[in-house]
Amino acid sequence: MSSNTRKGCFLFKRSWTTEEIQLVLTILAIFGGILVGFVVRVQEPSEKTIHLIGFPGEIFMNMLKMMILPLIASSLISGLSQLDAKQSGRMSAYAFAYYALTTSVAVLTGIALVLVIHPGDASIKSDKFMSADNEQHVSAFEKFLDLIRNMFPDNIVQASFQQTQTDYVIKLIANNDNTTRESLDVIAKKVDGMNVLGFIVFCIVFGVVIGQVGEKAQVLANFFTALDLVITKIVIIIMWYSPIGIASLIAAKILGILNIVQTAKMLGMYMFTVILGLGVHLFVTIPLIYFAVSRKNPYKFMKGLVQAALTALGTASSAATLPITFHCLEMNNKVDPRITKFVLPVGATINMDGTALYEAVASVFIAQINGIELSFGQVATVSLTATLASIGAASIPSAGLVTMLIVLTAVGLPTSDISLIIAVDWLLDRLRTCVNVLGDGFGCGCVHERCRRDLIDSEPQHIPSIVVNGDGTFEKVTEVV
Ligand code: ASP
Repeated sequence: MSSNTRKGCFLFKRSWTTEEIQLVLTILAIFGGILVGFVVRVQEPSEKTIHLIGFPGEIFMNMLKMMILPLIASSLISGLSQLDAKQSGRMSAYAFAYYALTTSVAVLTGIALVLVIHPGDASIKSDKFMSADNEQHVSAFEKFLDLIRNMFPDNIVQASFQQTQTDYVIKLIANNDNTTRESLDVIAKKVDGMNVLGFIVFCIVFGVVIGQVGEKAQVLANFFTALDLVITKIVIIIMWYSPIGIASLIAAKILGILNIVQTAKMLGMYMFTVILGLGVHLFVTIPLIYFAVSRKNPYKFMKGLVQAALTALGTASSAATLPITFHCLEMNNKVDPRITKFVLPVGATINMDGTALYEAVASVFIAQINGIELSFGQVATVSLTATLASIGAASIPSAGLVTMLIVLTAVGLPTSDISLIIAVDWLLDRLRTCVNVLGDGFGCGCVHERCRRDLIDSEPQHIPSIVVNGDGTFEKVTEVV
């Protein structure tokens, strides 16, 4: 399956690598999905037809999601158990510096563009085809505490399918005069959805400690390394199914959208601002950072990640894309697996440049359609909370829309106005996921450049030597020093 293995393809004179064939199939699948979507749309298909068209895509999403848990556990634990404390410390320092830098630049790019372009005006909100839901109670501070709470799950098995979320309940309190009064109580309840953050924290600690225990825990390290190998092989099988899955997901999405033309007219400038921001971040900011770190061509590096980018476009989930991103980085870009194993799962969970940029633009846009001019302090609050919200967002479709509640509440904007931008989230979500995934990929590239020497120095050296046996025969052996 390596890129060096060239296989004959009877359709063309030249020979194609497996990766090239998969890439071409995926590109064809995207165009095919768009075409099928628009052609079938004209026939006004029934709900059942749309459901059937989306069925192969649903199975594809399930296959990818099924791999997330074993992939995160095996890659983090096997990767970290091979490193010493100094190496993992250096690697995490570089990774977190990269996450912090890129996310803040993404937010600032979004803020600058939305203030200059000013896509929102009050007429958008008054349009009757957009209705607003009821207000929801959320406290930015409580959401922030949830983030920390979820990092330390009380039950690791439960963390694989449930997470903690703060909710408000109305409690009746008895007064001294036998009457009752209502009081708002804050409770932390469990809701469905994998607690990836908690799981990652657990796996990091587990992996690092295995490395420190050494010989006695070697069996555990070997187990997770073998698991990692098996999962990687399964991912390669899934990748052959991905063109069908992606085509189906895209076609079904296009069939499900209501009022394409009307929505585009109302939210065109808003979409333009978000897309421009994502484009600037993806094609200018990140490549510049990569170039500054590595002095290598960033677009060549980006080319190696195209398959992951297309999967992100199809699935709108960086977690579901994770297996493919691993494959692209290790096979196409030759990033050291000890780096991808740590930097990628952590990045996919907390480093979301596209989401941060999107949340900043969307919040200021909501202020604009409400006729509110944000003060400098409020813009600073938007920047800070958009960063936090992107860290807290799960790597699943439309998660950014949910965590935007944090940003809106922090600056006192109506949270119900999120329903105004839902109509275009199917597209913006895919694009920001693509930026999230490529941002993580470049993160691995940057850390690889910084830590490469450190890792090479610590690699065991295999020295070939000749040994003379007792019976006078010679034997060639390799000695590990
Ligand atoms: N869908 C995005 C992701 O998986 C998160 C978001 O909604 O912004 O990366």
